[in-house]
Amino acid sequence: MTIRVRFAPSPTGNPHIGNIRTVVFNWLFARQNNGKFILRIEDTDRSRYTPNAVQIIEESLRWLGLDWDEGPDIGGPYGPYTQSKRLPLYQEKVNELLEKGWAYRCNCTPERLKAVKEMQRAAGVDTPMYDGHCRDLPPGAISPDEPHVIRLKVPREGETIVPDMLRGAVTFENQRIDDQILLKSDGFPTYHLAVVVDDHLMQISHIIRADEWLSSTPKHVILYQAFDWTPPTFVHVPLVMGKDGQKLSKRHGAVSVADFRQQGYLPEAVLNFLAMLGWAPGEGDEREIFTREELLATFELSRVKLSSAVFSYDKLDWINGVYIRNMEKSELLKRLVPFWQAAGLVPSPVPSEMFETLAQVVPLIQERLKRLKDVVELTDFIFTEIETPPAEKLVGKKMTPLESLEAVQAMQTVLSNLVNFDAATMEPPLRQLAQDLGLKAGQLFNIMRVATSNKRVAPPLFGSIEAIGRKRTLQRLSRAEEALTQLIASEKY
Ligand code: GLU
Repeated sequence: MTIRVRFAPSPTGNPHIGNIRTVVFNWLFARQNNGKFILRIEDTDRSRYTPNAVQIIEESLRWLGLDWDEGPDIGGPYGPYTQSKRLPLYQEKVNELLEKGWAYRCNCTPERLKAVKEMQRAAGVDTPMYDGHCRDLPPGAISPDEPHVIRLKVPREGETIVPDMLRGAVTFENQRIDDQILLKSDGFPTYHLAVVVDDHLMQISHIIRADEWLSSTPKHVILYQAFDWTPPTFVHVPLVMGKDGQKLSKRHGAVSVADFRQQGYLPEAVLNFLAMLGWAPGEGDEREIFTREELLATFELSRVKLSSAVFSYDKLDWINGVYIRNMEKSELLKRLVPFWQAAGLVPSPVPSEMFETLAQVVPLIQERLKRLKDVVELTDFIFTEIETPPAEKLVGKKMTPLESLEAVQAMQTVLSNLVNFDAATMEPPLRQLAQDLGLKAGQLFNIMRVATSNKRVAPPLFGSIEAIGRKRTLQRLSRAEEALTQLIASEKY
């Protein structure tokens, strides 16, 4: 059997990261089995249509390297791959169901439907259903020309079994299955009709989707029976939840691929993380870092866990950090540039003389980055002017303002006299200076750090100073000198 799976999003906005996790499962399964991965746009609910959504969906998949073999942009043997372009097909299929007696026309008004629902609720029915008013009208009672919908004629008795790869047989009582609308009065199919028709016509072998659809699946199984088609294999995977057990939403943090991308998560780290949301390799295999190739070799759809998958932002940060630390410096530099540019720290295009400084900064921060975006806060002082630190901040630990001032002045002298202004050359004389002044190296270097970055915590000092350059470093030290002088002169001391 050829494996054919699909991602069938509705273009209603930015795709949710939970849906993308399900795409990862689909994609891995297809690629592992030499199968096809299909992108189909389910846009039959016109009220929820968002322009650009398709483009955003495609960009999200591309960014993660989840390529598709058939889809709206590239076509394929079973196109079109956008449901609104397939309307005559659904019409034709629904007519077939009408002829076979598996569907019926219904012209109940919205008012009547509402009244029925209210009555059922008042009588204590928990999930109100259509009362079947039009179900047994004689043929021709409702003309095809008057406004109406077409409903599925769900058998009143018996049960419908959904065979699920992960759960086994899930049984639903037919009397609790609604006579689902298949075709709306505007001629558009509902999700239920369109999904079944398309999965069949596109020869989908496995439907891998979130378990929130499981309760709809018995309707689909009935439709397969009605058409006399063999259903694909159903695989309902658990939803992605926040730590509080609620469906992951904006309340928990970023939820769209675009957000994660903007914050500086690497696509390879996100892919790794998503693959492990609800799946883990077999016992004894404690690996958490998987390259794309390793995932392809290790992932097993049948091992997806049934307990809901909890999205841990800390875990994602950790995985992202591991990928950043393992990355070639030149590659990391390439990926950091857009973040520096977006923050206005580096011009676009990068002036050629700046590359050397950038390349010098990368090793200073590689160990410290969790997300690429962190580079802005970590390195802004290297690229832009800093505010002169308040004098109190410049006073060294267990030192007086005067001692601190003398230290700043002595550092200015050492740095001005250096033959080469680089980290390796400046470190020994500065350490010697600390000794000469009777200070611990840390006391001296902290003053230097604050004076040159206005931060107490910053990337390695000497490398940073080298990147800032002699001229600007000396300017900053002289401003620190001024601030301390004023502090000493003020009445406070
Ligand atoms: N269009 C549905 C959605 O938006 C697809 C569900 C399915 O995969 O069957 O998620």
